[in-house]
Amino acid sequence: MLLRNIKVPAQQVSFLDAVRIGLGEQQGLFFPASWPTVDVDALLAMPFAKRSAHLLHALIGDELPLAELEQMLGEAFYFPAPVAPVTDDIGCLELFHGPTLAFKDFGGRFMARALLAAQQRSNVSRTTIVTATSGDTGAAVAHAFYRQAGVQVVILFPKGKISVLQEKLFTTLGDNIHTLAVDGDFDQCQALVKEVFNDRDLVGRLNINSANSINISRLFAQVCYYFEAVAQLTPAQREQLVISVPSGNFGNLTAGLIAKTLGLPIKRMIAATNANDTVPRYWQSGQWQVNKTVATLSNAMDVSAPNNWPRVEDLLAQGVIERSALSTQVVDEEDTQLGVRQLSQLGYLSEPHAAVAYRALKRELQPGEYGLFLGTAHPAKFKESVENILGNPIALPPALAAVAGEPSLAGDLQADFVELRKVLLSLE
Ligand SMILES: *Cc1c(COP(=O)(O)O)cnc(C)c1O
Repeated sequence: MLLRNIKVPAQQVSFLDAVRIGLGEQQGLFFPASWPTVDVDALLAMPFAKRSAHLLHALIGDELPLAELEQMLGEAFYFPAPVAPVTDDIGCLELFHGPTLAFKDFGGRFMARALLAAQQRSNVSRTTIVTATSGDTGAAVAHAFYRQAGVQVVILFPKGKISVLQEKLFTTLGDNIHTLAVDGDFDQCQALVKEVFNDRDLVGRLNINSANSINISRLFAQVCYYFEAVAQLTPAQREQLVISVPSGNFGNLTAGLIAKTLGLPIKRMIAATNANDTVPRYWQSGQWQVNKTVATLSNAMDVSAPNNWPRVEDLLAQGVIERSALSTQVVDEEDTQLGVRQLSQLGYLSEPHAAVAYRALKRELQPGEYGLFLGTAHPAKFKESVENILGNPIALPPALAAVAGEPSLAGDLQADFVELRKVLLSLE
């Protein structure tokens, strides 16, 4: 299947080319212009990895044979995505059981494999991944590519603006993983990555690819866990399903809307943000106005210029998603803390990102509906905030305990493209 550039519709590329190129001309995003028909009931009856291979095969087409996808997904999705019941009418879809304890493992692990497949087919022997992270992408991408021959990974993150444990999950690896603490916020990191892609000479020399949520392979991979969620629900819950997504760059939400487009029974979706509320304001007023990013407890969502939003607009323009199927909610810091406390009182240990989605869901869920909020990160990843909010200590899972004591290998970087270019060229 061909993907078209949303900004330059004449540019149409295959899935693997889109994976390799990342962003299209004029920094346009690649996205399907039409959608396959899938047998939802048959898919829901399959086990997770196999279902995911079939689903991705339907989305991608014959460029990646089903058998190859089954092999890739078997390796990539080896951990579960369980729905944890919280109350009778609310559950949390836990997406944090992968190696870096956040949902970005799903997209990162499939993307790494798709990129290697693209590389093999085009006889490219080396690739440089340059990506910006607001916290969890970096770790997922780093782990997915760690010690992969022919791949160098450069990760930019806003210095001091992500949790220490988040940082330790990717800055302690070394080897082919290079990490840069940028003196600025996430939007500045993202802007630097965009500048890299504007430098055609640099991109060509190092064969640079981005691995943030604009890469279509990540979005497609994320569609799979929405199916996995519904597969765990009762018929009654499936009929009245509302899903609340804690949103930053809006990749997760886009994936859910794709799942709905493919026929997954989702009645409506809620895009929940923290105070970085560009989309909710836009949804109300029609004015796209980007304010300065503010730091919040749900720091992986501290994004004021969300990259994936044009894809949501495209789904609306294509007519496959109705405006009424989506609503937006802004959850402030106090309400976020309240969410963590309320969940704890219900016997469910959570963290600020999921709590944003939970509070948004509580505002909107109607009697008779069943609500899912997405648990995007393991509570221990935000140990400090969670302990501050709840007033009691929480234990570290083994993956975090192992890295907590290791030194960070990150270098410092001014938010300046000339400096970044030097660092990149030193990898040549
Ligand atoms: C990245 C991230 C988000 C935001 O997801 P988007 O797809 O960028 O909207 C939410 N929660 C956590 C824990 C994250 O790491």
